[in-house]
Amino acid sequence: MILLSPNFTLDEFTRSQTAERTGKPIVVELDSPVFINLQYLCMTLLQPIRTALGAVVISSGFRPDWLNRMVGGSPRSDHLTGLAADIIVPGRTPMEVAQAINAMNLGYKQLINEFGRWVHISSPGPGVAPRRQNLTIWNDGRGTRTTEGLHAVADLQARVTA
Ligand SMILES: [Zn+2]
Repeated sequence: MILLSPNFTLDEFTRSQTAERTGKPIVVELDSPVFINLQYLCMTLLQPIRTALGAVVISSGFRPDWLNRMVGGSPRSDHLTGLAADIIVPGRTPMEVAQAINAMNLGYKQLINEFGRWVHISSPGPGVAPRRQNLTIWNDGRGTRTTEGLHAVADLQARVTA
């Protein structure tokens, strides 16, 4: 078991149901750039979040290019470099988690409430100023939309149908 920070192991970031179906392993070499980025993501963002909010489940961590294409990720996704994670905190809605993180004053690049189903958080990486951009990605019934700020998806959808 390889620890990235006191409460996070490398395994948690290289597990993917999609990858398992292909039988192809997700390999991260020790001290590789991806490994260093995952460590930085844990130490600066995920560990403080874990300490404040309790257990954090990583639903998507590092994605090699082939996996990112399979799951339809953006070609510039921060998951490709190990600087992003999709997280769920059991017992709290993604909106509650995102609002709590926003109030913590952490140096993140992006904090996204994705479809009201999970929270995407990314790090700018060492030496880069944190942008602290908050977004909500949701479905308006016709397609995927991105709205500035953290919103409950049901509120955004209610505005469309109103
Ligand atoms: Zn993500």
